[in-house]
Amino acid sequence: MDGTGAPWARADVAVKGDAIAAVAPRIEAPARRTVDAADRVVAPGFIDIHTHARRGIFEVPTADNYVRQGVTTLVEGQDGSSPLPLGAFLSKVAALRPRSTSRRSWVTARSARRSWGARTGRRPPSSSPA
Ligand SMILES: [Zn+2]
Repeated sequence: MDGTGAPWARADVAVKGDAIAAVAPRIEAPARRTVDAADRVVAPGFIDIHTHARRGIFEVPTADNYVRQGVTTLVEGQDGSSPLPLGAFLSKVAALRPRSTSRRSWVTARSARRSWGARTGRRPPSSSPA
């Protein structure tokens, strides 16, 4: 499975470093390591669109519990508690070593309104249409 929506197919997958180098019906090139995944499903990492991983990512930056389930991208902030300022948070996560997942975050209206109010000292404008 390649994640594009195309039908699944039997194939060899070559990995170089941390990236897929080739997918073909048969790859004959020598490899340092071979994993026999015959009769198994090989898929790109899954995206967990609703996590609260920010609570522990600095203690366990490899996010082993997610990776073992095939999850390689974590999305959070969907409950209205976006980590703001977002750029600073994502930079701090990106600096973690070792790290095994990528990180995305929603910026929710509630968080944006709260941040705007904190920065300006004013009551945020209504989120309801007039
Ligand atoms: Zn939640």
